[in-house]
Amino acid sequence: MQATLSRAVRFEGVGVHGGQRAVAVISPAPAGSGIRFIRTDIVDRPNVIAARYDAVADTRLCTVLANEAGATVSTIEHLMAALAGVGVTNATVWIDGPEVPIMDGSSAPFVREMAKAGLKIQKAFRRALKIVKTVTVTKDDKQVTLSPARWFEMSFEIDFAEPAIGRQRREMAMVNGVFIDELSRARTFGRLADAERLRAAGLGRGASLENAIVVDGERVLNRGGLRYADEFVRHKMLDAVGDLALAGAPIIGRYVGVKAGHEMTNLALRALFKDDTAYRWVDYNHQREPKALGMCFDEVAA
Ligand SMILES: [Zn+2]
Repeated sequence: MQATLSRAVRFEGVGVHGGQRAVAVISPAPAGSGIRFIRTDIVDRPNVIAARYDAVADTRLCTVLANEAGATVSTIEHLMAALAGVGVTNATVWIDGPEVPIMDGSSAPFVREMAKAGLKIQKAFRRALKIVKTVTVTKDDKQVTLSPARWFEMSFEIDFAEPAIGRQRREMAMVNGVFIDELSRARTFGRLADAERLRAAGLGRGASLENAIVVDGERVLNRGGLRYADEFVRHKMLDAVGDLALAGAPIIGRYVGVKAGHEMTNLALRALFKDDTAYRWVDYNHQREPKALGMCFDEVAA
């Protein structure tokens, strides 16, 4: 069944790119409404922004959503991943600034508060997006493939020149709580040299060792080190969960990302939806409902 939060949860913090503080309040929403953002600081034009793949306006540094009036909200991916990972179908995110607070650079703070609030199961079937034909998008050495599978599975591979990151590959079936245990704590990351370059360009203003892993050659500069030995590839998977959530429903299928990022995942969704023989909407109708938090597509009656 569809689910929303039992009560509103509140987050406050700085945006990693713009450096502006914002308060985001995530409140319960009616069945069938999906996830949407409302920019409470915008009063002179429509301020509701749907969390949908076709509302993505920029993917260069983070995922930016926009509505037709040009109202935007940035860095939505870690929050979207948390909502998907916890199993929230419907919610409204009230935000008083242009960028979602980065918190600790992962989805964990969002997951923690939403888990504390708990889910409210709603009287409507949950839809899922079943992949029935393989779709691949490629750009230079980057690639994303969506293909049929019995449940939601992911495989991701990265290859960075920095010895601290290097080549990492991970594969997992995203069933029952795996997102929360294995991905939600993985933080965003960057190279020290890039951080300095971005700051000179007026970006990355909110970035710090409190909300990002910073690497320099073979060194991780954060005092506490890494949360997972392969935290980098896990964060890329977290990003993909958040970007895929813009499909508007959980996916039953396999996602394979090679050196991919926000742009490639969004292009894959656009390619998928352009080909109506590549997917099918199904009701998620299994007896094992999301009483435990987490993606519960361990078996699907489709
Ligand atoms: Zn990220």
